[in-house]
Amino acid sequence: MSQESLSPAYLTRLAQEFGTPLYAYDAAKIKQQYDKLTTAFNNSNTLFFYACKALTNINILRYIRDLGANVDCSSVNEVKLALHAGFPPERILYTSNGIGFDEIEEAQSLGVIINIDSLSNLEKFGRKFGASHPVGVRLRPGIMAGGNLKISTGHDKSKFGIPVDQIEKVLSLVEKYQLEIADLHIHTGSEIVDPDVFVKGIEILFDLIPRFNHLKFIDLGGGFKVPYKDGDSETDIQLLAQKVTKAFESHPNPGGRPLQVWFEPGKFLVSESGYFITKVNVIKTTDAATFVSVDSGFNHLIRPMFYDAYHRIDNISNPNGQPRRYSVVGNICETDTFAWDRTINEVREGDYLVFYNAGAYGFEMSSNFNSRYKPAEVLVKDGQAHLIRRRDRFEDLLRNQIEL
Ligand SMILES: *Cc1c(COP(=O)(O)O)cnc(C)c1O
Repeated sequence: MSQESLSPAYLTRLAQEFGTPLYAYDAAKIKQQYDKLTTAFNNSNTLFFYACKALTNINILRYIRDLGANVDCSSVNEVKLALHAGFPPERILYTSNGIGFDEIEEAQSLGVIINIDSLSNLEKFGRKFGASHPVGVRLRPGIMAGGNLKISTGHDKSKFGIPVDQIEKVLSLVEKYQLEIADLHIHTGSEIVDPDVFVKGIEILFDLIPRFNHLKFIDLGGGFKVPYKDGDSETDIQLLAQKVTKAFESHPNPGGRPLQVWFEPGKFLVSESGYFITKVNVIKTTDAATFVSVDSGFNHLIRPMFYDAYHRIDNISNPNGQPRRYSVVGNICETDTFAWDRTINEVREGDYLVFYNAGAYGFEMSSNFNSRYKPAEVLVKDGQAHLIRRRDRFEDLLRNQIEL
């Protein structure tokens, strides 16, 4: 854990002040992660677009904007949130996938950068806008990478992007509609530890670059890994920067133009900034396990059930308690196990359990399942805790319902 992380005593005070379940984010950690990227790449022509689907609270978007990052969006609503947060359109990238053309038209009218991921939408774009709006193309490189199949997007059975072996079709659309292709994009998956995956991506793009006359950028996507448990590795950003730089040195000015490199980190920027604090409702001893039920479930943090993700859990109310083995579960009417057979300092009813690495795809994937309230969110910045989303109230459950 870095020094900047929030202490158990501080997290306890947040839980007491704002109630549980609670998401708390440490702004300093986001800055630390962003600085790692800009420091490693400081001598190269590289930009970072925060993949905001990881966490879209408007205050987080503004904080990341102020750090100097750009933003990558996966829906037109995220584009509008980014505009609302004060990103100028030229710092907003919309990497669409499988969307209707009306959404692309809307993004075009908002003036943002667009990556198109199907021949069908590229054709529609060409017909309507021709050369008037430079556009990017998302390619599927046929690379298998990422933590597991659910978060792997670049392999040759993935729905994402236009397969590179259909490049001739892309080129004939470019020709037919005089399209200006400004960037080629690949995103191979999440939790990529090996920098060579990105180098492999660059190698594939190098072969294609000379065939596109208006290229200014190549976009290598996101997917940098962060450690979730002791001994876990993090993508070595310094090494990545060296390897990317070296790959470009071996292909000077591909296509005769200097190209800017883009990355789209999501998890890397916000995962470790986030703490999810819950309170223990019930302890149930059975032959199979000692179950600890907390005041939450996969309605608030779905990653363990959905991705088999590991989140470190501490009992911040009993830091010196005797370690015991527990299964940590939720309170919803579904199997919602957060952790099986996990060693945690002795847990008592009423204790606070904190889940680490909860900043990315935590609150963002939460729901009102079981008609439970979504948690509150707090941002800790310059030593101050700010409530940035109030907990749902009963009227929120009825808000969009129409009573006949
Ligand atoms: C999800 C996504 C990212 C970010 O992935 P992380 O694993 O959070 O870094 C980047 N680019 C695109 C196109 C994505 O869909």
